[in-house]
Parts: sequence; C-alpha cells; structure tokens
Amino acid sequence: MNAAPMNTSHHSPSPIRVGVLGFGGLGQAAAKVLAGKREMILVAVADQKGYAYSAEGLNTDGCIATYQSQGSVGYLEPVGTLSNQSIQDLIASTQGVEGYFLALPNLPNDFIPTVAKEFIKAGWRGVLVDAIKRTSAVEQLLAMKEELQAAGITYMTGCGATPGLLTAAAALAAQSYAEIHKVEITFGVGIANWEAYRATVREDIGHMPGYTVEAARAMTDAEVEALLDKTNGVLTLENMEHADDVMLEVAGICDRDRVTVGGVVDTRNPKKPLSTNVKITGRTFEGKISTHTFTLGDETSMAANVCGPAFGYLKAGQQLHQRDIYGIFTAAEIMPQFVR
Ligand code: NAD
Repeated sequence: MNAAPMNTSHHSPSPIRVGVLGFGGLGQAAAKVLAGKREMILVAVADQKGYAYSAEGLNTDGCIATYQSQGSVGYLEPVGTLSNQSIQDLIASTQGVEGYFLALPNLPNDFIPTVAKEFIKAGWRGVLVDAIKRTSAVEQLLAMKEELQAAGITYMTGCGATPGLLTAAAALAAQSYAEIHKVEITFGVGIANWEAYRATVREDIGHMPGYTVEAARAMTDAEVEALLDKTNGVLTLENMEHADDVMLEVAGICDRDRVTVGGVVDTRNPKKPLSTNVKITGRTFEGKISTHTFTLGDETSMAANVCGPAFGYLKAGQQLHQRDIYGIFTAAEIMPQFVR
C-alpha cells in the first residue's frame, strides 16, 4: 500500500512554532500550557500595547512577569517591541510562526474576524485557532471560508471549552443516536477575581437581560465592579447566544434551535459553582430515548478546558495545513489531536 503514513511518529522532527495573540487570563494560561509541551514552542506573543518574538522560543515566566509589572510584553528585553498595532506589526516583522491561538477579546463582535482579515491581507499562511463564543461571530468567520481557502489559511473556530470541548463531546455522543433531540450545555466557572479575565466577564455580561455586547464593552471597570457587587460576584446566564448551536448545525448533527447554553460564573471564588456538563438527548435506531452526559472534573479550570483544546485543534489544523487543506473548520467537525 502506498498511502502516506499516518502521523503517529513519537519524535516529530521540529516543534510547531506557535504565537499567542492576547496576553490576558487565557493568553498567559496558554503560554503556561505550552511550557510543558515538546511538540509546540511559543515564539510570539502580542497584547494591546506591544509584542515579543524570539525564534528560539520565549521565556514564559519572563513574558508573564513583564506583562504583569509593566502592562505589556513589549517591554521584555531584548525581544519586545512596543506598538499600538501590535498584531499587524508582529505579522509583518516575523516569519516562521506556523500557528496562532487568538486569545483576544471579541469586542466589538467583529474584532476577531477583522484580525483574520489582517492575516489574509499580510499574505501569511498557516493555522489560526480561536475560542470565540457568539453565534453571530462564528457566522462572520464561516462566511470568510473562500477568502481563507484562497489565502492558504486553515482556520479552526470555536475551539475553547464552550464552544469547543463540549461541542465536540456532543458531536461524539450524537453517534449513538438516529436523531438528536436536545443538546444542553451548562457551565460552571469559578475565578478568584474578575480582573484576571476582564474580556470573558464583559462578554458574559453582554448576555445578561438588558445588556448587549456594545453596552458591556463600554462599561468601565468601576461599572463592572458595581454590577458584580449587586450579585455578590455571581453571573447567572440563560439561553445564551453561543456558537455551539451553529457549529452542531453546520456539522449536520441537529438544528440550532435544539441547542441551549447557560451557566453560572462566580467571579470571587475559584471553586466552580456547578459542574460543567453537556447532555445529549436523542432516539436510537431501536426507538429508545436516552441522554448521554459528559461532565468535566470540578478541579479543571476554565483555562485548562479552553487552552488544552485550543492547542489540540491547532495541532489538528497543522496536519490539515500540511496536506494543503485550507478554509475554516469548527470544533464539531474535526477531532483535536493531543499535544505532547
Ligand atoms: P483578557 O481581558 O484577560 O485579556 C485580553 C488580552 O487581549 C489582553 O492582554 C489585551 O492586552 C489583549 N488585547 C486587547 N486588544 C488587543 C489588540 N487590539 N491587539 C492585541 N492585543 C489586544 O481576556 P480573557 O478573559 O483571557 O478572554 C479572551 C477571550 O477568550 C475572550 O474573547 C473570551 O470570550 C474567550 N473565552 C472563550 C472561552 C470558551 O470556552 N470558548 C472561555 C473563556 C474565554
């Protein structure tokens, strides 16, 4: 048989050179995740005020210490550069970054699609991964399929926890059924303080009754704190506009109106207020109605459940890219690859 060998090698020749855009809560966690990997190496980081690049690999602790003490990795000597258009400058001035995880706020709701357009405009080729949340944001990206294909970019969208890990679990669980009746995602998030994940908390506020993405984006930190004071730090979210629905629909699993997402976020306690789970209800070929439940361990943090899958999908995207398969894929249609 002359088929190309499967990628089962235990000693891949050189690690995938990865960049992380956005260096807040998730970006810093992503850098820590990469520090423990052999198959990927962190070579580029960007935040709102600067970027850092090193072909040999960035020092994770150095990046985090500089960001936390000075507000930008651009201050990191000698590899940092200050810039008000850090993403454009990073793409323009560096070669050889094979994949980026976009750990950026999606504020406004078309921000990440705009960043994808920057990559296209710059003529960059490689793998992009996001952990974007809103249905309308994923729809904007899906509409860019042909542009991404023509540009030689393999874009993996919705590859965090939800959407992401839980959507993929639903896609897997669906295999037992002839018809899917309901996919119900319920997440519990516990974080010690909201400042560690400002964008995540703001975007969650945007889902609350009476709020919009724009309203949440315009809130000052003091206004966010005042709101959290009223709820004892807890946000309860129901019937969220979450892209798990469009992803499962595009994957041909069920109509989007059968998918619901809600959750509870405690911004003052790292302990999860409830166990994150997805319940997939359907009818088997014998006519039995049943529910599969996939529950995440309570000890696993939001950061672990977002960054792990994001890099798993980056690795899967890299394998597609190497086979000249470009365009856009969601977490519901591709199996993530475990990164060693
Ligand atoms: P954060 O507020 O902690 O950090 C955002 C970072 O982005 C900061 O470093 C900031 O400097 C940088 N940034 C902002 N604008 C920039 C720009 N124009 N250029 C370069 N850098 C810029 O954010 P976070 O809480 O870590 O969240 C990041 C994203 O992850 C959010 O969009 C959130 O919705 C998403 N998220 C997804 C999931 C999931 O399961 N899918 C879970 C949690 C968070």
